[in-house]
Amino acid sequence: MVAGNWKMNTTPSEGKALVRAVMEKVPNPATRVVFGVPAIQLLGIQELVKGHPNYAVAAQNMHQEESGAYTGELSAAMLVDAGIEYVILGHSERRDYAGEDDDLINLKINRALKHGLKPIYCCGEKLDIRQAGNQEIVVGHQIEQALSSLDPEQISRVVIAYEPVWAIGTGMTASNEQAQQMHAYIRKMISNQFGSEVGNNITILYGGSVKPNNARELFAEPDVDGGLVGGASLEADSFAAIIEAV
Ligand code: 13P
Repeated sequence: MVAGNWKMNTTPSEGKALVRAVMEKVPNPATRVVFGVPAIQLLGIQELVKGHPNYAVAAQNMHQEESGAYTGELSAAMLVDAGIEYVILGHSERRDYAGEDDDLINLKINRALKHGLKPIYCCGEKLDIRQAGNQEIVVGHQIEQALSSLDPEQISRVVIAYEPVWAIGTGMTASNEQAQQMHAYIRKMISNQFGSEVGNNITILYGGSVKPNNARELFAEPDVDGGLVGGASLEADSFAAIIEAV
């Protein structure tokens, strides 16, 4: 699977042009392709991918409550009614700038699953943690806090995205070995808790400076099932090249 996270980029007309260009370049992708678009574009982009077997849309965030007096927020029910299939939850930018922690993200994941959405759960360590060699402790804790309350059916609808924070938007991509090592660790954690069938089948994406020139090698690692792509998803040629690297 390849998911693009556009973050706070593209106007609605730019977003439509980008999706049209990607779909024209790769009309029949061999993998699932997801556009993670700004809230105002969800309906418009969903119209463009509707009915396509491999293209889908993700929201970049969602509120944990069912509905109510939460000005500016989007609920799971709204996303489902708009035909949206995925929701990115726990991105490091939301952890940093919106103060989201694993307990809150766990509530969001539960709400999303209750409505039939597929969460793309982001985890990953900061640079100082990596330098101290504590990345598995930190990511392991994130996974446990956010996902351990789920049942096997629920976890089978979750996509995990490992995004080392030091690799996001920096050009400092994790090495293939670093990515593989962490993905294998996450898969083992999931297998230990939910059984090896769930562990073997769960999709684990790598995110952090994925580009056309490093995607193929990263995706070739046995436990890397694709990518969550920021900057390179904003340009049709580079996103198409990454889709074709799977
Ligand atoms: P970049 O690909 O720009 O490093 O962003 C990664 C990311 O944060 C995707 O969610």
